[in-house]
Amino acid sequence: MIKKLYPFGKAKAFSVTYDDGVLQDVRFVELLNKYNLKGTFNLNSGLMENEFEWVHESGLVVKRLPKEKVLTLYNGHEIASHTLTHIYLEGKSEAEVVYELKEDKKNLETLFQREIKGFAAPFDYYSDLIEECVRKCGFEYARISEESLSFKPQTNYYRWKATVFHLDDSLTKLASDFISTEEELALFQIVGHSYDLDTENMWDKIENVFKEISSQDDILPMTTIGIIDYLKAMEKAEITHSHIVNHSKQTLWFSVNGAVCKINPESKIAIDE
Ligand SMILES: [Zn+2]
Repeated sequence: MIKKLYPFGKAKAFSVTYDDGVLQDVRFVELLNKYNLKGTFNLNSGLMENEFEWVHESGLVVKRLPKEKVLTLYNGHEIASHTLTHIYLEGKSEAEVVYELKEDKKNLETLFQREIKGFAAPFDYYSDLIEECVRKCGFEYARISEESLSFKPQTNYYRWKATVFHLDDSLTKLASDFISTEEELALFQIVGHSYDLDTENMWDKIENVFKEISSQDDILPMTTIGIIDYLKAMEKAEITHSHIVNHSKQTLWFSVNGAVCKINPESKIAIDE
């Protein structure tokens, strides 16, 4: 029996994707790092100057992180675009959407000196036009606001859904279901903004989830782009009863008749029947 695995022979992957680049990310990233977890942070490069701030309905003043802080804070995590100015994209022309995406991608690439491959839609709005612009601007995926509430990896990378929004009542239940699931390539991804952890007083709740997940041996912490790159490589694999061919440039991992099996890039293994 052949089962697809994540890198290093892990059966499952865990990830978080957090938006806006706010002050609470400092505490949030510390928490991720404490448990050796990985995150994707979706930033608006046009709102980083002068600690741009706004008042949340709870009264909390939400502050954005300035450039000099984001540079070191997110070391080891993925940076993705969340538009230049956190604009509401409904009704905007193609030129306006492209400008918001392209400028943000360019600024983030200059700031972080790495390629920015992901996009997360601001507010709860996404459309065919935005999808077209996301592709045109050279992004490899777009995360939308809708939850999947499932551990099945998404197949539409330009309408990527995280598993659950962190304020959803089912968060803790899903985390424990994930720990016991046997689903192939199971993925659990939490989406949110770290200021909610202050306003909803749920730092302990999220830390408990992180603690639980990180104590499991079969779960690999990954960024969104790490997962998507791996899933794309896995899609190209040729799997028959007698062999597996890895047609990608990444190492792929499988469980073959109960044994963990690693296949180098552009290589083939035979399977004993
Ligand atoms: Zn946002």
